[in-house]
Amino acid sequence: MCLNAIALISGGLDSALAAKIISRQGINVTGVTFLTPFMRPEVGGLAKNIGIDIRLIDISLEYLDLIRNPRFGFGKNLNPCIDCHIFMLRMTKDLMGDYNARFIISGEVLGQRPMSQNRAALKRIEQESGLEGLLLRPLSARLLSSTVPEREGWVERSRLFGFSGRSRKPQMELAERLGLSGFTQPAGGCLLTNPSAFY
Ligand code: SF4
Repeated sequence: MCLNAIALISGGLDSALAAKIISRQGINVTGVTFLTPFMRPEVGGLAKNIGIDIRLIDISLEYLDLIRNPRFGFGKNLNPCIDCHIFMLRMTKDLMGDYNARFIISGEVLGQRPMSQNRAALKRIEQESGLEGLLLRPLSARLLSSTVPEREGWVERSRLFGFSGRSRKPQMELAERLGLSGFTQPAGGCLLTNPSAFY
């Protein structure tokens, strides 16, 4: 029996890799890319390369509300990364019924961003999005508590990864091994992370 999951796809390296890793374990993965005024990636080529369909959803209006007063504050610039993750994951959770999805895949990496990807923030994001146990982060899974998909044997934990920190080198090497291309080059995030974008 083929199980379904939804992967958040930003257009960057990490989320594409996360989707590919789980797709290679025989899970039927559908991607979802949220479009905001600050991030509108072109993901057609990436979808082909990963071998999944990607649905585009424009959340610009709702997103403008979110950045006015983010509950968990801003990062170094105008980026409300924790609220942003929670918001997108809640929206993805609402799509699970449409796709009969058992869990959600995210490309977050432990320690990659000091505010939004430390251990406590990852836990908070999982709890606040209502996805306890159902949010799989394949790139760092072996450093995190096991999730339902791992415990149920839907995916093999031993074939997941234990990446952490800011270096993208291990991810670049893995992408090369898996023949993954078409992602945007690793940078700092969306336009909201760019200190000169609004001056
Ligand atoms: S960098 Fe931008 S898109 Fe990414 S989590 Fe932060 S606010 Fe959201």
